[in-house]
Amino acid sequence: MCIFCKIVAKEIPGDIVFESIDVLAFNDLTPQAPTHVLIIPKWHHESAAELAAMAPTTLAELFTVADQIAKERELDGYRLAFNTGESAGQSVFHAHLHLLGGRPFAWPPG
Ligand code: 5GP
Ligand code: ZN
Repeated sequence: MCIFCKIVAKEIPGDIVFESIDVLAFNDLTPQAPTHVLIIPKWHHESAAELAAMAPTTLAELFTVADQIAKERELDGYRLAFNTGESAGQSVFHAHLHLLGGRPFAWPPG
């Protein structure tokens, strides 16, 4: 079982900020911004593309939840990211949407 599946199963603790039938959101262990939440499908999918193909409604919910959390925290803007593949920085192969906010972000990203 992957590390995020273990957090879903509550086998290892996660600092959970939101939970629905299909989606879980928890604070990143190594936050890169004042708000750094990972929003994931509870069912294991390796990538955003696989999630889009297999469960498009759940993919849409990830974005809705991100916006909901941003509104609750009154973020004036936020960045969303799916890293796909090792060269793009993906280290956990369970699809997850990064929600980053609470500081300015540069463009282009590093
Ligand atoms: P990726 O690099 O795959 O896009 O993002 C994986 C993210 O998961 C990283 O930002 C990393 O800090 C976070 N992470 C890795 N292991 C854990 C964990 O056990 N708990 C939590 N909350 N975050 C984790
Ligand atoms: Zn998993």
